[in-house]
Amino acid sequence: MIKILSIFGTRPEAYKMIPLVLEMRDRPEVHAEVCVTAQHRALLDQALTPFGIAPDYDLNIMTVGQTLEEITTRVLRGLPLVLKDAKPDIILVHGDTTTTFAASLAAFYAKIPVGHVEAGLRTYDKYAPYPEEMNRRLTTALADLFFAPTQVSRENLLKENISDKAIFVTGNTSIDLIKHTTRKDYRFNTEALNNLDFTKRIILLTAHRGENRGQPMENICRAALRLVRENPDTFLVWPVHPGKAVVEPANAILGGQERILLTQPLDVVDMHNLMSRSFLLLTDSGGLQEESPSFDLPTIVLREVTERPEGLAAGTLVLAGVAEDSIYNEASRLLTDEAAYKKMAAAENPFGDGQASRRIVDAIIEGNFR
Ligand code: UDP
Repeated sequence: MIKILSIFGTRPEAYKMIPLVLEMRDRPEVHAEVCVTAQHRALLDQALTPFGIAPDYDLNIMTVGQTLEEITTRVLRGLPLVLKDAKPDIILVHGDTTTTFAASLAAFYAKIPVGHVEAGLRTYDKYAPYPEEMNRRLTTALADLFFAPTQVSRENLLKENISDKAIFVTGNTSIDLIKHTTRKDYRFNTEALNNLDFTKRIILLTAHRGENRGQPMENICRAALRLVRENPDTFLVWPVHPGKAVVEPANAILGGQERILLTQPLDVVDMHNLMSRSFLLLTDSGGLQEESPSFDLPTIVLREVTERPEGLAAGTLVLAGVAEDSIYNEASRLLTDEAAYKKMAAAENPFGDGQASRRIVDAIIEGNFR
């Protein structure tokens, strides 16, 4: 029996680890436990509840206005006791958060092998995204098994002299989650969504990245307002990420406007079912860029760079940057050019086929990581 401890702390990590935890629970060869750092307390709890996952360990590190230094040191202080108690054969971390890096470092200090899920994403720009680019590079240095979502991420790891034998191309686990969430006759948990006018074309917007705070966030809001005003058959829905830097411009520029709904962040079941009924996605989220092609949902990326070039190559994503005009122009084009829209919507999802969790568990069971 292999004892595997998954450690994560934020909503996006949770959504990508949930299908893996569910898969591990189905395997008799594995004893799976979960430790949350709760770097984002409320969003994390909202994520786990619908899937019946209760953490075995909870560091509960979040404080108001927490700094990166505080997150890192609290994880480093809290984890040794958990590792001592759980005695895992291997820990699993996901992606690029500060929890990911700090948990990998704690496991290294305890000489416990680390499996990195969603390994090998890169922009090669130290400060974009910040701090995620360095979190994932540092995690690469500490990990023993690398679960690369795509060939591109595998090649990034090979360039950094990671042994080919330690890399497994699995697809992204975020795609695995869709089969647990999406239903035709779905009734939303967020009541306002049940009353949406789905005869209109739904433009779904999310924005939360650190580097989009300030002027870029205002540009995004203004571009969204113009789009909705100039296209009467559209309706904008924005699940607004908590945090002043997002809430304030969202309310100031888009609050109380016609055909615009600002909601609380959605749980992932609502999110996926809303994506399946939407026409266009505008987002700076990494996870949503991967999931949207599985809903035939063309996606405009509100960033200057993306570490998901597979989506650009496959034609599922357009990189718009964060200037008001470029966002407006790219979105307008897809609202008016039917051929361009259809081509994007029909493109195949390059990020995964829904089988990533099974491949990861197979690799751990067969792998020689001790
Ligand atoms: N998500 C969600 N509700 C929201 C926004 C995002 O359920 O209101 C989900 C989304 O489907 C994806 C994950 O959260 O699975 C992505 O998280 P987020 O956009 O917060 O972060 P990123 O992927 O950029 O790290």
